[in-house]
Amino acid sequence: MKKVALCLYVMYFLVGCAPTSPSTTEAAVVEHWYDVMPRASWAKYPQVETSQNWFEVYQISDNTYAIYEPFQWQEAISYLLIGSGNALLVDTLQGIGDLKTVVSQLTDLPVIVINTHSHFDHISGNYQFETVYGFNQSFALNNAKGHVNAVNAQYMTPDTFWKNIPSSFSAETYHNKAYDIDKFVEDGEVIELGGRPIKVVAIPGHSPDSVILVDKTNRMMLTGDSFYPASLYLYFDTSSFKDFAQSAQTMLSYRNDVDFLLPGHNETMQPVNYLTKLHEATLAVQNPEAPSTLEEEGVRNYQFNGFSLLVKDPLDR
Ligand SMILES: [Zn+2]
Repeated sequence: MKKVALCLYVMYFLVGCAPTSPSTTEAAVVEHWYDVMPRASWAKYPQVETSQNWFEVYQISDNTYAIYEPFQWQEAISYLLIGSGNALLVDTLQGIGDLKTVVSQLTDLPVIVINTHSHFDHISGNYQFETVYGFNQSFALNNAKGHVNAVNAQYMTPDTFWKNIPSSFSAETYHNKAYDIDKFVEDGEVIELGGRPIKVVAIPGHSPDSVILVDKTNRMMLTGDSFYPASLYLYFDTSSFKDFAQSAQTMLSYRNDVDFLLPGHNETMQPVNYLTKLHEATLAVQNPEAPSTLEEEGVRNYQFNGFSLLVKDPLDR
């Protein structure tokens, strides 16, 4: 989950570090979240046409696709990692468009689904797929049961959409469908795709069930919502700054194994030096003298170069 309420629009633009994001002084004149779209950084990757114009698909390496939802405020990103024997679909977005059809047009291989965590914007297409790996952890198991419209509709208000809304989508009936977890994955487990081992590493903090996926062969780390170049949300009831600080250290321990971070929102292929900056940020936040702003009651915003941390106030260190 990238953001929880539209009242956070302005903050989102203030902290966005994308080359196309407006500067602080410009932020006040941004009327719509999509006024900064398209983000220029996507243009460097070949775009792959599919039959589903709700998604934009980019080939970010020989054997890796980013499946991006630029027309809804979350700007969620799923990744399809191709091995010689299997494909791994990392996150399934919001269940607005037909993700399964897109994936079928990208690969004929058997597809395994795994999620960076079980917030609704990362799991809502899970139900379409036959094989879903997951975690034997209460937060993940609860979210796999699905959510009713009353829970999800708040994220699908008209102002969260830009264009290309699928005709099959209705905010009135939108809900997370339940899905089965076919295999439990352990912390440190390796999923072998055929010449492409993918290590699953637990990094709780943003959510209790957050993981990174480390692809040493291709020197990539999929970071979900634990890093992307904007506001990182660590103040939810189920978030833990204390855990996140430890997890930032865990992420940093892979800095010599990867060159790029593949986030779950906004932009892809971020430089690995963000791992160092993220770790340093978690240390800085723990200094009572660190500059910050009160974002809202109970939420403090610490701004860094390229991202910010939104944490509980007082800090749950
Ligand atoms: Zn999330």
